[in-house]
Formats: sequence, C-alpha cells, structure tokens
Amino acid sequence: MAMNMILLGPPGAGKGTQSKRLEDTYSITQLSTGDMLRAEVKSGSELGKQAKAIMEAGGLVSDDIIIGMISNRVDQDDCKQGFILDGFPRTVPQAEALDSMLSDKSLKLDHVIELTVDDEAMVERICGRYTCSKCGQGYHDKFQKPAKDGVCDKCGSTEFIRRADDNEETVRNRLSAYHEQTAPIANYYGDKGILKKVDGMADIDVVTSSLKDIIG
Ligand code: AMP
Repeated sequence: MAMNMILLGPPGAGKGTQSKRLEDTYSITQLSTGDMLRAEVKSGSELGKQAKAIMEAGGLVSDDIIIGMISNRVDQDDCKQGFILDGFPRTVPQAEALDSMLSDKSLKLDHVIELTVDDEAMVERICGRYTCSKCGQGYHDKFQKPAKDGVCDKCGSTEFIRRADDNEETVRNRLSAYHEQTAPIANYYGDKGILKKVDGMADIDVVTSSLKDIIG
C-alpha cells in the first residue's frame, strides 16, 4: 500500500534528515522542493535563474512554479510506493493546490507531521550544517562531526558542501517567511484532523522512532 506524507516544520527542524531515514525504512521517496530548486540553480536553467536570487534572500519562490514542479515529480515511477513531502507545501495556496492535485490523481495524504522546535536553536543548527558532496550524508560543526576530521563516515569522500543560504542573515529571513507564510498550514491540516506533532528538539534517533510510531 502506498503511503504519502508531509513533514512540516521550519528550516533546520530536521525534515531532510528524517525524510532520508524514512525513505530507507518504508521504501518511499523524499520530495524536497528545496533540493529540486538547488538542482535547477546548478543546471543554470531558466527556472533556476529565476529562483536563485529569491533563495539567496530567504524568500519564497512563486506558488505556480513550485506546484508545477511537484505535480510532475509525483507522477514518476519512484513515487508509486509513496512519497514524503519535505519543504512543500509552504503556503496555504500550495496546500490547497496539493489537495486538488492529489484528488485529480486519485491519491491521498496518510500523514501530516509537524516537527516542533525553537527558532533560536534553528539558527545555530543551520549555520553549522554541511553535507558530503558525494553521498549527501549530513554533518554539523558542533553537533555531528565525522569520526575522522574531513572524511565522510558513510562513503569516505573528503569533499563537503554548505548551502549558500545557510548564513545567519538569510536564515533569519527564512524563519520569518516560515512564521508568516508556512505556519498557517498547520491550522489548515489541524482543521482537517490529520495533523500530528513530534518534538523536533529531541535527539535525532528519538525523533525517528516517534515518527515511526505514528506511521506504524
Ligand atoms: P529548503 O531546502 O526547503 O530550505 O528550501 C530552500 C529555499 O528554496 C527556500 O528558502 C525557498 O526560497 C525555496 N523553496 C523551497 N521549497 C519551496 C516552496 N515549497 N515554496 C516556495 N519556495 C520554496
């Protein structure tokens, strides 16, 4: 049975980290609109050119672009078993568009789970994070160093990358965008009775097991 879900929460809450873990456990696919946009920026596409400055400033890319991107992605074969939406929806119009898109495709949402965290902790989490450029394993300057300095625990690569928007000024803008435009989505799903919350300040493994308890 396919399972489709949304992970909600501000930047730095752990949506990406947890999505990767759930992908492995449930054979479902992480759909991160942020990752898709970064790929567009890297490829130099027209869409990437439009998105770049907005992302660097910590604003939100237009709903139409994002909705089109997700709609195409959901149709691909690796989503047949289900998907985890990470970073989408981010506005109420996106949530409404998602509902109509899913009903057109005869799909439904099984879970919407919010990772709850405090803002100040997010600035510290985000500004220290980086990933292995080969396998994508995530690290942090303070909270999650590789066992051997400068060498990825998972694949042995020595190359790492940091996101251009993971600096304090942009992070503060991303957090305001979250409070202004994304937080109302929690009420949208709360009113429908499908929202559950998990303490995103807990240890990474504890968060994963709380998510699995909900998903079953
Ligand atoms: P993320 O990787 O989810 O933190 O996203 C990085 C940036 O991409 C955000 O700060 C936005 O500029 C843009 N972005 C990602 N997802 C969305 C979305 N669903 N709607 C609008 N902008 C988005």
